[in-house]
Amino acid sequence: MLDDYIETQSIAYKTIKNQVINDLVSHAYIIESNKSNVGMSFAKSFAKTLLCPNKYTNLNNCDKCTQCKNIDENNFIEFKIIEPNGNWITKEQIEDLQNTFMKKPIVGTKKVYIINHFDKMRQNLMDKMLKFIEEPLDGIIAILVTDNKNKIIETILSRCQLISLKTISEPASDNIIENIKNNIDFSKYKNIEINEEKIDKIINFISYYEKNKKKTLLFTKELWHDNFNNQEENDFCLNVILLFYKEILNYKIDNKIEIFKKYENILKDINKNNDINQISDKIVVIIEIINKIKYNVNQNLIIDKLIIELEKR
Ligand SMILES: [Zn+2]
Repeated sequence: MLDDYIETQSIAYKTIKNQVINDLVSHAYIIESNKSNVGMSFAKSFAKTLLCPNKYTNLNNCDKCTQCKNIDENNFIEFKIIEPNGNWITKEQIEDLQNTFMKKPIVGTKKVYIINHFDKMRQNLMDKMLKFIEEPLDGIIAILVTDNKNKIIETILSRCQLISLKTISEPASDNIIENIKNNIDFSKYKNIEINEEKIDKIINFISYYEKNKKKTLLFTKELWHDNFNNQEENDFCLNVILLFYKEILNYKIDNKIEIFKKYENILKDINKNNDINQISDKIVVIIEIINKIKYNVNQNLIIDKLIIELEKR
């Protein structure tokens, strides 16, 4: 809920709280943040504050009422979230949105939509949206989230209230799951359990591979398949591997470890044995393999493929 931001985003928090309490809510907002997942969670909390019948009158209950729950599940009739479909927000998505939001709210007095990565919209589509944003029906509120407001056309920028979130550099925390959560969108992984033990196994795999290289192919069963065995899990694990190598790259440049502090020794060992080009090459390979997962490739061979491709470099 919005109160989660009292300290971390005090200016944005106060601005919005005052507007909601005094009934001075604008019809369009741009939430700007250097991390789109932060912008998005802020936007959702804002939406809840607008739509939740408890608002601030019953703080303790908020987040638990039916409306808030339905918003969390993206299943509330007066609320809609749009995410880019691939690289772009499409014309169809916007037409669909406009159809839904051409009607007045049925439950309560407000209707809210969030467009995440609003900058990922082509200029002509932004032009088309202008009127819709500028002259909405009573009670309709647009929340546009972006990590690059320079890509938004001036006419839209000038008609929205800009809420700039404070730049967040996550403090190095010891909680590995929290750290990874700040960098990987967990909402993609609804059917798998994500725990510390799993992260241990992923890092163990990386460590084993870095020491044994090709020979790892002989042990993929023990190291991988016995632990991870479906598309969702492969996707998550490979994204953690990607994050780990990116952190090594970061360490080479900045000498800082922010996410994988827990595995500091392993990270430093790998750092010693790989120069900056080797690490960048590995990152490229991992990204290619992650992209392959989306197509229905044989999931059992994904990890073998990764090792083979890494060895080719
Ligand atoms: Zn609520």
